[in-house]
Amino acid sequence: MPAQTTAPAAIELSALTKRYAPGKPAVDAIDLRIASGSYCCLLGPSGCGKSTTLRMIAGHESVSSGSILLDERDITDLPAAARGTAMMFQSFALFPHLSALDNVAFSLKMQGLGRAERQARARDLLGRVAMGHLAERKPAQLSGGQQQRVALARALITRPRVLLLDEPLSALDPFLRSQMRAELRRWQQELGLTFIHVTHSQQEAMALADTMVVMNHGVIEQAGTPHEVYNRPANEFVARFMGGHNVIDTPAGLVGVRADHLQLAPAEADLPRDAQRMQAVVTDVEYQGSHVLLGLQQQGLALSANDTAAYSVMLSEAAFAARPYPVGQAVQLHWSAGQAHPLRPPARAATALHDA
Ligand code: ADP
Ligand code: MG
Repeated sequence: MPAQTTAPAAIELSALTKRYAPGKPAVDAIDLRIASGSYCCLLGPSGCGKSTTLRMIAGHESVSSGSILLDERDITDLPAAARGTAMMFQSFALFPHLSALDNVAFSLKMQGLGRAERQARARDLLGRVAMGHLAERKPAQLSGGQQQRVALARALITRPRVLLLDEPLSALDPFLRSQMRAELRRWQQELGLTFIHVTHSQQEAMALADTMVVMNHGVIEQAGTPHEVYNRPANEFVARFMGGHNVIDTPAGLVGVRADHLQLAPAEADLPRDAQRMQAVVTDVEYQGSHVLLGLQQQGLALSANDTAAYSVMLSEAAFAARPYPVGQAVQLHWSAGQAHPLRPPARAATALHDA
């Protein structure tokens, strides 16, 4: 048996469903095991049910049906504070009028602990996130990175088994975001806790996750390591959502080919006999630094003004410099069978049958 299925699950969702209103549920009978001590990212477009899933795990949203286990304990109907989870919110949501220390100690005050113990535990945690020397500062006197560490300490003070993060980085500027991302990953490894992080950013999920869970319309389209999901997208939705892939209709069905695996040749060139191919026209050329991204349309299709390129090819800057292809150029797109991955119909097609 593969190690993945035998590793203890910190969280196990079974047929978890949330129905806000009649019709298709916001979260539709999802099954998911999240390994203990792993970094899991829930990824998908806006409205696909990520936050609802996270809020049901946190106990901030009731469950319509299905169950949630945490360390094999059924927490489906427990109040939020009794679950062993803690939440870190977007832009950290620190209390502006409280010091870092009081922000961290806040939930212990709610639990009725005495001041001396609250402060001792908060000081200890601030020390662990390298913020002990700034304990008396207010959030406005801290950098974005320092605020994130205070927010982390505040979430950890209740000694959760699982930390839940809902788009914690999405309000930050790109530079700070990638810095904070690295720091979150480092803290997760250092603490050995299970993190479940909701994001709509493919890049963020790929950078952070041990397990990436791609959702769409309330169902899970694919779960796997970033490498598995990126290299073997299960279906057309995942291939298109992850980006960097071409979805190509072949006689054998839809296949996915990575933009950096699709190759270009002059229209008149002889290709290897077994190469799969298509006649195409270059519609745009985008310089991206180390790479050049070419957009193409299949030859013979009428282009309208707002058509986006149907296919994309990523060439290294050196390869493009050696053999540039201008806009309007007729070319052959080709790929080897080994670089084309069959795409299944989306997971939703199966559930749509039940809805009808
Ligand atoms: P995501 O976090 O992936 O953007 P959400 O889980 O917030 O998605 O929302 C999933 C769906 O449920 C959306 O269609 C949204 O409009 C709906 N929804 C979310 N929260 C509520 C609510 N409190 N009441 C009714 N509908 C909601
Ligand atoms: Mg959300």
